[in-house]
Amino acid sequence: LVRLRARLSRSQSLLGKGLLSVLSRDHLDEDAWEEIEDSLISADVGVEATQALVARLRERVRVLGTRTVAEVREQLAEELVAALEPGMDRSLRTAPHDGRPAVVLVVGVNGAGKTTTCGKVARVLIADGRTVLLGAADTFRAAAAEQLATWGERVGAETVRGPEGGDPASVAFDAVRRGIDTGVDTVLIDTAGRLQNKVGLMDELGKVKRVVEKHGPVDETLLILDATTGQNGLEQARVFTDVVDVTGVVLTKLDGTAKGGIVIAVQNKLGIPVKLVGLGEGPDDLAPFEPAAFVEALLG
Ligand code: GDP
Repeated sequence: LVRLRARLSRSQSLLGKGLLSVLSRDHLDEDAWEEIEDSLISADVGVEATQALVARLRERVRVLGTRTVAEVREQLAEELVAALEPGMDRSLRTAPHDGRPAVVLVVGVNGAGKTTTCGKVARVLIADGRTVLLGAADTFRAAAAEQLATWGERVGAETVRGPEGGDPASVAFDAVRRGIDTGVDTVLIDTAGRLQNKVGLMDELGKVKRVVEKHGPVDETLLILDATTGQNGLEQARVFTDVVDVTGVVLTKLDGTAKGGIVIAVQNKLGIPVKLVGLGEGPDDLAPFEPAAFVEALLG
């Protein structure tokens, strides 16, 4: 929590300064409630979700006869945690089973942080005593495979790559094959994300998934979303959830945004658990997503 807070405070505040200033007043009048609403909306919580949340909060305040702003803050925190569905299963399915490695597909648009997240996840797993293999199925950008291989060297994981411009599905297939042969615990597959060519991208992702499944089921499909793209990111997300069974979201670049409310929007609109958050470019800048700790960090 301390680390999370330190990271997040690098930007202003994940819910913007507005909310913090309202919550530091000694009295909440009608204008203050509007400011709370505005802060949540501008932090990308989403209009509907914000209105519902503020209505519930106001009702609670009325029924409970809340007097102090500190109490309102507590109740707001509870409402935010509830909106994040704390009961959802956020564990990563990365453990080997049935004598074969767990297979994790990493999808998302270019620049969202897929390659970086593969590296960071590999690092966490390896630090935990697991063995990991990386598959560079983003064969369209030579730099992508290079970048993944660099992460592999850095964290101690073998990287399987194909020829530049080669078939992504065949690299993914080879990576899982190699993972089975070498007996690693987890195979992480980095994919391409050129959203400009939606149909091509989706065909390609579908094929990667089908081909990988010849070895057995995909255990986890992580959708990487850049928190700084706000509501646009949600639209992009739908393109992916339509094609592959996304089992978890990783929200990256939360360190560089005042729009942390997007976590709530993602969770509500997609109904898929946010499992991890990216808090920087370094190997250790990845944290499991925990609603209560996150809300505490949000509200400062
Ligand atoms: P990909 O195209 O989806 O594979 O994206 P990359 O992994 O190449 O990441 C794109 C850029 O975002 C790189 O410069 C990364 O260092 C940066 N990046 C990724 N995750 C984070 C994060 O959590 N925070 C910050 N600040 N930068 C990130």
